[in-house]
Amino acid sequence: MTVRVPAKVNVQLAVGAARPDGFHDLANVFLAVSLFDEVTVTPADELTVTCSGPDADQVPLDRTNLAARAAQLLAARAGRPDDAVHIHIAKNIPVAGGMAGGSADGAGALLACDILWGLNTPTEDLLDICAELGSDVPFSLIGGAALGTGRGEVLTPVEAGSFHWVFAVAEGGLSTPAVFREFDRLAEGRDVAAPQASPALLAALASGDADALASTLANDLQPAALSLRPDLERTLSTGVEAGALASLVSGSGPTTAFLVRDEEAAAKVAAALEASGTCRATRTTTSPAPGAALLP
Ligand code: ATP
Repeated sequence: MTVRVPAKVNVQLAVGAARPDGFHDLANVFLAVSLFDEVTVTPADELTVTCSGPDADQVPLDRTNLAARAAQLLAARAGRPDDAVHIHIAKNIPVAGGMAGGSADGAGALLACDILWGLNTPTEDLLDICAELGSDVPFSLIGGAALGTGRGEVLTPVEAGSFHWVFAVAEGGLSTPAVFREFDRLAEGRDVAAPQASPALLAALASGDADALASTLANDLQPAALSLRPDLERTLSTGVEAGALASLVSGSGPTTAFLVRDEEAAAKVAAALEASGTCRATRTTTSPAPGAALLP
C-alpha cells in the first residue's frame, strides 16, 4: 500500500499567548501544496522504517518516527495483537522545515496501515488518532485548505482557488518548540491578542486572487524564526526582488515560501534563489493539493 501525502504552508498563522499547558492557541490557515512524501507499508515480522530521498539521513528510523508511531497507535486502538509492518518513506518534503513533513508521514502511514489491515476506520476516528500524533497531522490527512483552531488540530475546511508557490529549502532545520519559546521570549511584557482568522485572507484564498492573497499573508512566528535565523531575511528579499508577489517563513521555518503569479514567474524566482546562494534548494509547487491518498 503506497499513500501519497502533501506538505503544507500556513498562509496565516496567528499565535495567542502560551496556555497553562504550554501549548498556544492558534488560528492557522493551512494550505496543502503539491510537494509530496510517499509512504509504503508492507507486512513484516516486526515494525521497521526505512527512508530514501535527499534529507533521508535526518529522519529517525526507530519507533519514534511519526509514521511508526501512527502504526503503533492504530494497532493499539484497533486491538490488533501486533503492529508488525515495514514502512518505507520516499521523502521529498524538507525535514524540520516548517512544512509538516513528519506529520505528512504520520498521516500517510495511518491511512496505509488502515487499508493494509482492512480496518476501515471511520475518518472521524482517524482524525482523532492524527490529533494525538501531533497538531499538524489531521490537516495532512485531509489536505486542501482548512482553518485550524485550538492548537491547530480542530479543522474547518475552507475554500481555496489555485495559486503558484516557490519554496526555498534552507541549510539546517529549526525546532518548532524552540521557535515557540522564542515567540514567548519576544512577547514577554506585551499583550498577545487572541488569535483570529483574517476574513480578508479567507476571501482572498477563496477567490484565487494572488494579489489579494499576497497582501494578507501573515505568520506570527516569522519574527521568532528570523530572530533565530537572521540569514533568512536575505532569502526572503531575494525572492521578492526576483518578482515574487509576497514572501513569508513557512510555519516555524526555516523553509521560506514565495507566492508567485504563474509558472513563468515561479521559474524566474526559483532560478534567482538558487543563483543567490541563500538557500540549499528550491521546490516549485501549486496549491491546493489533495490530502493523503492511496496510489494505484
Ligand atoms: P511542522 O511544520 O509540523 O512544525 P517540520 O516540517 O518543521 O514540522 P518535520 O519535518 O516534521 O518538521 O520534523 C521535525 C522532527 O521530527 C525531525 O527533526 C525529526 O527528528 C522528527 N521526525 C519524526 N518522524 C519524522 C518523519 N517521518 N519525517 C521527518 N522527521 C521526523
